Amino acid sequence: MEITNIWNDVLDNLTKKISAVSYEVWIKNLEPFCLKDNTLILSTKLESSVKTINKMYLDLIKEAVKANSDFIDDVLVILERDKDNFSSLYKTEKKEVAPLEETLLFNKNYTFDTFVIGRSNQIAYYAAKSVAEAPGNQHNPLFVYGGVGLGKTHIIQAIGNYILSKNSKANILYITTEQFINEFLDSLQDKGDGESNRRFRLKYRNVDVLMIDDIQFISNKKACQEALFHTFNDLYQNNKQIIFTSDKHPREIKELEERLLSRFQCGLTVDISQPDLETRIAIIKNKAIAKKFVISPIVAEFLAEKIDKNIRELEGALSKVIFYCSLTGQQADNIDVVKDALKDDISESGNTLNIENIVNCVCSYFGVSKVDIIGKKKNKGIVEPRQISIYLINDMLTMPLAAIGDYFGGRDHTTIMYARDKITEAILLDSNLETKINDIKNMILKK
Ligand code: ADP
Ligand code: MG
Repeated sequence: MEITNIWNDVLDNLTKKISAVSYEVWIKNLEPFCLKDNTLILSTKLESSVKTINKMYLDLIKEAVKANSDFIDDVLVILERDKDNFSSLYKTEKKEVAPLEETLLFNKNYTFDTFVIGRSNQIAYYAAKSVAEAPGNQHNPLFVYGGVGLGKTHIIQAIGNYILSKNSKANILYITTEQFINEFLDSLQDKGDGESNRRFRLKYRNVDVLMIDDIQFISNKKACQEALFHTFNDLYQNNKQIIFTSDKHPREIKELEERLLSRFQCGLTVDISQPDLETRIAIIKNKAIAKKFVISPIVAEFLAEKIDKNIRELEGALSKVIFYCSLTGQQADNIDVVKDALKDDISESGNTLNIENIVNCVCSYFGVSKVDIIGKKKNKGIVEPRQISIYLINDMLTMPLAAIGDYFGGRDHTTIMYARDKITEAILLDSNLETKINDIKNMILKK
């Protein structure tokens, strides 16, 4: 597990969210120190920065870390000089600070108890549960597929956590496909004595349960597929449980050897689809409770309605609301607070709900240029997209009219108001326009 790689990705991510100056002063000097349980410990030399980072940036850092890692769920900043004492600072816990490479990769929060069951995932849930009850005996392999951020990693790690809770000595190996590929490639760097190849085989064939996450990445990697095929057969013949996840059905994984495809499908293949509104609301409520945060039903529903494709994003939005409320001392009891908190919302997939994104979507929908939309042209082909952009900005963001005017080439706030009201009225009379606008909205939210 490459903690430095994760941290580098996190830094990349943060440069986009934090001003260059803040980044230089507060973030750049942080160094990843170690992982403890599922907490990433960062260290800094500057005593004065711990407080500011905790207050201003910790939530953003956490969000970025979670976006880049499935198993880290918290971040702690300590002073560099405390590094040596770190274990003793946490005397209450028996466990030593594990070296980075050896850290167990299960997220302790990914359990069956914390998994909300709905129509979209119930079959996967019950399949996972029955595998957890009797690993290797039925449903082998278990193949879970579905879109990004819908709970695949959560549900398979729940199997791992469950088995470990019954038998702490069970030998369970959770690994991402990327790790599997890297380790396989390393095993080829043999010094001629067959040692590294032997170690690779030993590691993978010596487990009770093997979980490989995001197996779609094996597509097109012939030698890795072969190694996986042999590993699979060995485990399967010995009644060891094998579990895969993928973002698509095995049949849709491109350039996959036929014999591996048939192995993937010889057990139980289940999918997780997009959760319905009710499930999303339940998830939000559960996550809020887990974070000891009080959220009103209206707010939970609002968030769940806004973010409907990806539970990871839904959680990210909730974290933002919590952070915003803690900074401003407000309560999450009305939609305005949420709108403010998510004003410049950057979804974890890197897409931004902001003025730029809205205007870009309108431009590509109508096939007009941004320069024209912002500029002075008065022909209908431009005026309509311009007014629709203004309408959508008003509708989707909380931005003062004057600021919108500034963006549109220094137009007066009354011009902005006029455009907004014109479209609001036009929608009432023209259902085609309403459809158009809804399509663009969907484009913006999905993008
Ligand atoms: P995937 O592996 O499919 O991309 P994850 O398992 O990483 O998705 O899930 C993303 C986030 O959403 C995790 O924090 C997970 O706990 C949460 N999540 C997904 N589905 C559920 C669910 N049904 N109940 C509770 N949390 C969920
Ligand atoms: Mg995953």
